[in-house]
Amino acid sequence: MAMLLILPGRNPTNIADLLEARLPGADVRIWPETGTREDIDFVVTWNHPEGELGTFPNLKGVMSFGAGVDHILADRSLPAAVPVSRVVDPVLAEDLREYLVGVVIAHRRRFHEYRESQRRMSWEPHRYTRASRVGILGLGRIGSTVARGFAALGFQVSGWSTGDKSLPGVSCHTGPEGLIAITAGADYLICLLPLTPATEGILNYSLFASMKRGSCLINAGRGAHLAEADLLDALDKGMLGAACLDVFREEPLPPDHPFWKRPEIIVTPHVSALTATETVTAQIAENYERIAEGLPMLHPVDRIRGY
Ligand code: NDP
Repeated sequence: MAMLLILPGRNPTNIADLLEARLPGADVRIWPETGTREDIDFVVTWNHPEGELGTFPNLKGVMSFGAGVDHILADRSLPAAVPVSRVVDPVLAEDLREYLVGVVIAHRRRFHEYRESQRRMSWEPHRYTRASRVGILGLGRIGSTVARGFAALGFQVSGWSTGDKSLPGVSCHTGPEGLIAITAGADYLICLLPLTPATEGILNYSLFASMKRGSCLINAGRGAHLAEADLLDALDKGMLGAACLDVFREEPLPPDHPFWKRPEIIVTPHVSALTATETVTAQIAENYERIAEGLPMLHPVDRIRGY
């Protein structure tokens, strides 16, 4: 039995060391040094090359190194019977809540404009609106934490999910009518959906047309949720007033991308929440042991549903 870490662009030595300390005697390998592929029965991955997962004939489980699994499910070489799991980190949800509260309050109190005024040494007081309605697309582990956080600060919060939910202080909606109810009322619309065939491109012109004029879009889900040209169009037409984007179709955002130069768009480099190494290694170690014992992994994903 061997575990393979496929984490291109990272140095996973520290993670491998932590895993070996937790799992004495475990065979932990670091891609691309796979050794004999037949030995690998557990893969932990983040953005592996497509087609790689199908090359391990004895695979019993694949785990995402983060909360999202779209990069795993997009790999059609992965046999349908292999279970997939992900990291669920309460600290990650709290970090996202902090990022999103920070973005909303900074926008509401116009800090970015004062920064510009300060650069010109110009005393330019502005009125601020008490815009206070936050709509959250996705009320899962992260979205529900974020929704509770805004509600505790006195924001009017509405949220959207597939199934019915009941969260204190949050108006919960489902289905296409629920989506419109949220977009029409929100001053800030936050995307915290998983990327699935049903949600890809959901942040598009027709959704923007249903949003409150001058409202702000925040995408911390996945880059492919957003139709990028539609956002520029909606900003040009004043349908939206601003956007804050943490995730992009292509990361790093290419140097010639129009988002860099748009004053209404805040670009952050996929940093709204970072996976805590300790939490991840504990969950990887537990899943490795579970696979060895023939038990289901922690935090399994429904491969049909896509999250
Ligand atoms: P969960 O799987 O716990 O929650 C997903 C939520 O989205 C659920 O409430 C689900 O509804 C809802 N949902 C899924 N599909 C639809 C749909 N078609 N229509 C309406 N609602 C839908 O995921 P997490 O909260 O853990 O994470 C969400 C996403 O956040 C991740 O997949 C990832 O893309 C992103 N993320 C981004 C990070 C960043 O650094 N920017 C960091 C971590 C995560 P229901 O509850 O009814 O099933």
